[in-house]
Amino acid sequence: MDEEKTARLVRELLLEIGEDPEREGLARTPLRVARALARLVRGYAQTPESVVNGAVFEATDSNHMVVVRDIDVFSLCEHHLMPFFGHCHVGYIPRGKVLGVSKIARIADCFAARLQIQERLTGQIARAVRDATGAEGVGVVMECEHLCMQMRGVEKQNAKMTTSAVLGSFHDDPATRAEFLSLLPGFGGHGR
Ligand code: ZN
Repeated sequence: MDEEKTARLVRELLLEIGEDPEREGLARTPLRVARALARLVRGYAQTPESVVNGAVFEATDSNHMVVVRDIDVFSLCEHHLMPFFGHCHVGYIPRGKVLGVSKIARIADCFAARLQIQERLTGQIARAVRDATGAEGVGVVMECEHLCMQMRGVEKQNAKMTTSAVLGSFHDDPATRAEFLSLLPGFGGHGR
């Protein structure tokens, strides 16, 4: 992203909404917005491979379900460029390879830091975890609040959207899927 070009566009936007981009409080706003935006969409310059960076570990005796809960998610909806945010929970059954816990969060981040819809984001995280580990199955559940729903006067101020993606044994085996859900807060689990 070209910071100065983005700042010029933000200045145009301020004029268009009837503001005075020269007034004191707004003088540096275009540049600040440009820098913030670059940070919020940093994921375009990342891939799951680049963020995992080889941190996949052999765990030959491990074929039990691994669940990482309450990973923070911050993203921008592609329809309104407004934030949606919440948590995701990731479970997988390794086939001899596991990911560092922080790397699962980094995978979620690299896709969240793009313009998104929650449904696609959920699926991308699931596929990236599968591809990085060769897991026999992966499940991702995500719960987010969408400011585009909450701030635009639609009477859904408290609505949360839940999405899920299941691959492999999490898709094919109801018992595996049920075990995963039983470990999540609010889905039959006792996490909270
Ligand atoms: Zn939206």
